[in-house]
Amino acid sequence: MNFQIITNIGEQVQLANNIVIVTHSNPDGDAIGSSLGLLHFLQSYYPLKSIKVVVPNEFPSFLKWLPGVDQILIYDNSKVEVADFLNNCDLCFCLDFNSLKRIDSLYPILRSVNAPKILIDHHPQPDNDFEIVLSCIEFSSTSELIYEVVTKIGGKEKLNMDIANCLYVGIMTDTGSFSYASNRPELYIVVSELIKQGIDAEFIHRKVYDTYSETRMRLLGHCLSNCLVLLPHLHTAYIHLSKEDLQNFNYQNGDTEGVVNYSLSIQGVVLAALFTEKDGMIRISLRSKGSFNVNEFSRKYFNGGGHKNAAGGTLYSSLTEAIAFFENSVLENRCLIDEAFCIYE
Ligand code: 5GP
Ligand code: MN
Repeated sequence: MNFQIITNIGEQVQLANNIVIVTHSNPDGDAIGSSLGLLHFLQSYYPLKSIKVVVPNEFPSFLKWLPGVDQILIYDNSKVEVADFLNNCDLCFCLDFNSLKRIDSLYPILRSVNAPKILIDHHPQPDNDFEIVLSCIEFSSTSELIYEVVTKIGGKEKLNMDIANCLYVGIMTDTGSFSYASNRPELYIVVSELIKQGIDAEFIHRKVYDTYSETRMRLLGHCLSNCLVLLPHLHTAYIHLSKEDLQNFNYQNGDTEGVVNYSLSIQGVVLAALFTEKDGMIRISLRSKGSFNVNEFSRKYFNGGGHKNAAGGTLYSSLTEAIAFFENSVLENRCLIDEAFCIYE
């Protein structure tokens, strides 16, 4: 962690009047949590500045109870307004992504924004599109990084319940409730400070994880009963979901969040994938155990990226072709997958 960068960020914020916070498409708990956490800090510390949060597309309903969600502008629903904010901003925070490609429909606008862009993120290999980069891959989440930014710029006394609720959700979701990316002892000091603000960690967990719709729960059952394929000799498991499957279960954004992890929970599996058929493309979620690096795997085969053990990508093909391509790429990487299996088991 380079504290000088946080000082530079503080100086840029002082100079700016119209600040926009942007996060990646299909925003998850860390994307929304870190963006709203930063929003609440900036609004309370600099009440005279205009601060906006914009996201490319809709975010899951299990995040819609967070304080400040009503202030989030969704580009898909408010194109002119969002373009206007971005074109007129004098500082732009980019949170929880490492490449402008990750903001999909917002990319053409953000690319041409003249204001300095500040990247705050924990994914490896950030692109060169940002003026200031606070990139720490050892951090659990962007939300944990925002905690450092808030407390270095404003001091711990600037924390409040709203900031704490939002950052806690980001940390909890990006660590699978402290089951991965959560071995740094400093993380628990941050969590302790957030809980001291008066947040209720049990309540937050229930709000995020125990609010399935009936169709989402039945979709999960369908995934596990009918769509799971196990390749035991390759220590690999995958789940495939067609557009028809999604329609049958009234799919809403976020309904497949966490599904890929079930395949990885099978003993002996070190590589798991979820294929989801979307309009004209197949989205792929990848998870691994141990040494097999799905960030590199996704960059090489699936036009994507992510972290060492959690990544995603896209293929422009049919579902059947995507699965065949995946099985082939697994075979090509058989040695690395075997190695991960031998070390892990
Ligand atoms: P998920 O499978 O939950 O969508 O994503 C897992 C991780 O991979 C997240 O950290 C996410 O930011 C990253 N990721 C997902 N899809 C893509 C992609 O298309 N490109 C890149 N570079 N990263 C992705
Ligand atoms: Mn994240």
